[in-house]
Amino acid sequence: MGIWDYSIFWKETLNQLKNELSEQEYAMWFNMEYEVSGELSIVVSVPSGFYRDQVKQRYQSRIESKLLELSGQHITVEFEIKQRIKQESTSSSTNSENHSEKAEDIKASKTVAKASHFPEQKERGNHPQLREDYTFENFVIGENNSFAANAAMAIAKNPGTAYNPCLIYGGVGLGKTHLMQAIGRLAWKEKGCKIIYITAENFTNEFVESIKNNKTTDFKNKYRNADMLLIDDIHFLQKKIETQEELFHTFNALYDAKKQIIFTCDRPVSELKNLSERLRSRFERGLNVDLQPPSYETRCAILSKKTELRGINIPSEVLNLIAKNVSSNVRDLEASLTKLIAYSELTKKTVTLEIAQQQLRDVFGAPKQNNVTIETIQKVVADYFSLSYTDLKSKKRTKAVSFPRQLAMYIAREITEYSTTELGMEFGGRDHSTIMHGCQKIEERLKAEPSLETTLQKLNKMIKDFNS
Ligand code: ADP
Ligand code: MG
Repeated sequence: MGIWDYSIFWKETLNQLKNELSEQEYAMWFNMEYEVSGELSIVVSVPSGFYRDQVKQRYQSRIESKLLELSGQHITVEFEIKQRIKQESTSSSTNSENHSEKAEDIKASKTVAKASHFPEQKERGNHPQLREDYTFENFVIGENNSFAANAAMAIAKNPGTAYNPCLIYGGVGLGKTHLMQAIGRLAWKEKGCKIIYITAENFTNEFVESIKNNKTTDFKNKYRNADMLLIDDIHFLQKKIETQEELFHTFNALYDAKKQIIFTCDRPVSELKNLSERLRSRFERGLNVDLQPPSYETRCAILSKKTELRGINIPSEVLNLIAKNVSSNVRDLEASLTKLIAYSELTKKTVTLEIAQQQLRDVFGAPKQNNVTIETIQKVVADYFSLSYTDLKSKKRTKAVSFPRQLAMYIAREITEYSTTELGMEFGGRDHSTIMHGCQKIEERLKAEPSLETTLQKLNKMIKDFNS
């Protein structure tokens, strides 16, 4: 035992937090082990860089104030990654990742001795189907995706158990593929799981090809032998009856063998059309989580992460400008950044606010329709029918209000990426089925009254103009 030993305070801190947090939250984040105490500090080990970043952000100050309360001293907590402690002990690795924290200085033999029982992690190179940069470390967590990201982490750590299958849904460019591959990569790296990642489109193509070449047995074997099957963009399977049938059987085989299955989809399963009922019920089984568009703060954080990853220095005011102007999805956010980086590399100039404004004029100036907010739609539609914006969100059910409301729902569904659940919230806390019902009503009326189409076009134009 060294001169300092704060383990008793650490234990009590955990005890208290365990009582204060929900069981799920505690189990999710307090996968930490006390390692050693230094002068007014405690070193705690965590499983990964992702964990460390998250835990620091979420709990460090709370933990430290508890330690202060309990001990009367300002004890700081330092989080170390288990893997790295191990590497230090064997000093065989040149860890190039920038994980250096203060705790690096602490070479207490106790830490090393204790760490040596951590399981050996095999070094794995590239996975043929997974993108190297789609990792948890590179995935920025915000309000919009924290539930999904936590669930994803839990699945990666314990595949095939609680959250099986898992469906991640949300609009384009919100990180579905990234998150899905992060799960696969971690399970592959840490547990050596056999991962198959494929888009629903390629799954379909391969299946068709296997029929053509009389190789359906090979096809079946391939997919049924996976430890984890990741199928991206299952909305593509709509109308593909035979592929659906095949996937249904693959699903059952894997599920029965307790293998993890993960899907992504651009909308909730309830909104998929032309899908067999039995496959639908399989998708809906297990856990369904959604990704929503990021807030301004999260967009800034994502941009700063992306510049860091590319090793490029872009002034934060420029990043803020992009975050302010590009709100639709992360893919567009990244595209703006790429454009600026390309410009700066070509011209060898640093990107100033002025240059950014000039270079991104097209992107900012002509907002895509999916930049439209629900509020804009509601305001324009309310105005058009001489109603107030609050009427549209109210519970009033008179005809004068309910038709424009349904129209606004319909337009929102058509031109934004929001799910019906989110739209429900925006329309006075209604259920997603109300939105679906509203859209259906408008579709029916559109068939019966061609003039409604003209009204719709007018409204769409007004919404577009409202934004520019
Ligand atoms: P989707 O599959 O939902 O269309 P992707 O997973 O392809 O979206 O994400 C689009 C891009 O945005 C990718 O480059 C991805 O790395 C990035 N991205 C999305 N969400 C995040 C996030 N929370 N943090 C960091 N990058 C993100
Ligand atoms: Mg995708």
